[in-house]
Amino acid sequence: MGQLGMTLSCSDCGEIVENSPTVTSFKGQETYIFHPIVCVGCLIKTCEQHSTVCANCGEIVLPYSQVGVLKEDNGRKSVVHMTTYCLTVGSAFHGFWGKGKLLDFMEIEAC
Ligand SMILES: [Zn+2]
Ligand SMILES: [Zn+2]
Repeated sequence: MGQLGMTLSCSDCGEIVENSPTVTSFKGQETYIFHPIVCVGCLIKTCEQHSTVCANCGEIVLPYSQVGVLKEDNGRKSVVHMTTYCLTVGSAFHGFWGKGKLLDFMEIEAC
């Protein structure tokens, strides 16, 4: 589709990826991955290995998604979906849930 000469390959296994974003659904949640480029097989494997659970609704949080971050009293962090429903729990942080760990989380200005 207008991207002649550009070959996308899976950053995990090196397979050619024909369509980006990679789209699949995992446990009933549609997931779109723009970055990194991964094939559907690796995406599902990543979802199986690295998804976590939303501290608010208890549903699965997929890797490579934006999340709200809750700091717990014991210093641990838990994550919630970036949805208005789940963010009402008072999260002051948001971040990006990567492969089984939080990446780039930052404080949201309280207003
Ligand atoms: Zn792959
Ligand atoms: Zn949730």
